[in-house]
Amino acid sequence: MITSVQCYKKWGDPLTTFDEGSYMTLWRVPEYVWKHIPTIPRRIYCNEQMIIPLEVAFLDVINQGLTDKIVTWDGCFQVRPIRGYAHIFKRFMNRGQFEAAMRYLSIHSWGCAIDINQATNGLGKVPTMSKDLVKCFKDAGFDWGGEWKRPDGMHFQLTYLT
Ligand SMILES: [Zn+2]
Repeated sequence: MITSVQCYKKWGDPLTTFDEGSYMTLWRVPEYVWKHIPTIPRRIYCNEQMIIPLEVAFLDVINQGLTDKIVTWDGCFQVRPIRGYAHIFKRFMNRGQFEAAMRYLSIHSWGCAIDINQATNGLGKVPTMSKDLVKCFKDAGFDWGGEWKRPDGMHFQLTYLT
């Protein structure tokens, strides 16, 4: 499982560096993906390390006939604190303790996570995500937030960085 600290050490502070284009990319999603899974955007702004795992996962979803299990696409890149930790993040930032603050940024801040089927897989709720769908993403190199102590069933993030 990757951590915010790992992302910070590798790519820096996403509040100021994400627009330099070194690791973020606008991925043109292959046509077969969004033709089979209509909710998937034609372009996804994501970390370049997401492209292969995401395409592998989508291909598996299509090949296994699970396309109707992805009901909504709920985003990838967004610079924000982990939900529920905004006040801690701000406290460290206000004190100038930058590295400590980075621990409380979501992996979405570096474009290494996606959310799907948010309406039925809310943070802290019992996930309803299809187990077969989850397996497609795990096999492709993602960790699933639905298995965490505070379940985040909508959330998949890269298992490791390369
Ligand atoms: Zn998420």
